Amino acid sequence: EPPITVRTLSEAIGHPSKDIMRILWNEGNMVTINDGLSEEAALEISLELGVELEIKRQETAKDRLTLSVESDEDPANLEHRPPIVTILGHVDHGKTSLLDKIRSANVTSGEAGGITQHIASYQVDHNGQKVTFVDTPGHAAFGEMRARGANITDIIVLVVAADDGVMPQTKECISHAKSSGAPIIVAMNKCDLPDADEQKVLQDLAANEILPAEWGGEIEVIRTSATTGEGIENLLETILVTAELHEYKADPKRDAVGVCLEAFLDEGRGVMSWLIVQRGTMRVGDVILCGETYGRVRAMYNDRNEEIQEAPPSTPIKVAGLEEVPSAGEFFFVMPEIEEARQIANDRRHADRAEVLSSRRKSLSLDDLLSA
Ligand code: GDP
Ligand code: MG
Repeated sequence: EPPITVRTLSEAIGHPSKDIMRILWNEGNMVTINDGLSEEAALEISLELGVELEIKRQETAKDRLTLSVESDEDPANLEHRPPIVTILGHVDHGKTSLLDKIRSANVTSGEAGGITQHIASYQVDHNGQKVTFVDTPGHAAFGEMRARGANITDIIVLVVAADDGVMPQTKECISHAKSSGAPIIVAMNKCDLPDADEQKVLQDLAANEILPAEWGGEIEVIRTSATTGEGIENLLETILVTAELHEYKADPKRDAVGVCLEAFLDEGRGVMSWLIVQRGTMRVGDVILCGETYGRVRAMYNDRNEEIQEAPPSTPIKVAGLEEVPSAGEFFFVMPEIEEARQIANDRRHADRAEVLSSRRKSLSLDDLLSA
């Protein structure tokens, strides 16, 4: 019998069980209040509801682990953290160009040479205040992350090219943005182009339930050009004002928890993973569990490829030391013991394989029926 149910989780984290069930239902998992939850699901749901959850493990006679759930959110430890901003929008509307421009405008010339390589996320300092930006590989990846409960975004910048208006992927981004509940700021980009049509963009937005502030709505529409740099300052100011209103906080004293943005195999350095720390502080030497893989942080780099020893909340980091390449959108957790991390990673791999096998068996029997 699974030790964590919707009901016990609800009691442990102090959130109504219907909120927990709604999250699972949105993922297509039609649970009821007495249904069991995996440890991973319990942790992810708690994070989505903004609660730190610690799962305590106790050895039983059968040498299996049972779980008890305990909330370890301590309001006394909460400190301000930089907002995490995700850039979304239709392909070619200028997401990457805007990110590059923001970054190059906010690094000193000495560092500028180092910023050409692709990075999944970076942090800028604007008038003494930090902002973390995330370049999602696309709206699909963003949806995927949300489906896993990895709601990393505090603020969404929706990029709409002024010469093109709201396009199909823009609409998908709007729907993801709305369901995430994060505040939206529109960057009306490519305003330098002669065929830019501001009125059409505003109309398109309004038609898609994004009512611009200048039309009496709540959404700021900032005119930008990633080519000339026009409006970048204004965009950053608007992000900081939005962040101030929401007061994003996290506990930097606890073990690190966060999300993998992307990962790859580097021939020299092994598995390299771009992670973003959401809560806690990550340190070199920490043991992490990330989806179906695990490892000890051997080296850690910031967005300028400088080696660092620790990373507080909202910091994007590149980490060496995982055994295998984790998937984008997976949560990571710092664990006390490498052996325990290894065991959970292995259990997850096996559970996944069993699921694939059983779904294959199902489709096979369906085929059998059809051909009969
Ligand atoms: P993404 O797919 O949204 O990441 O779009 P990119 O940043 O790759 O930009 C797509 C194309 O639009 C590139 O050729 C950019 O140079 C161009 N572009 C991006 N922003 C602007 C802009 O503000 N003005 C102009 N004129 N071109 C832009
Ligand atoms: Mg891009």
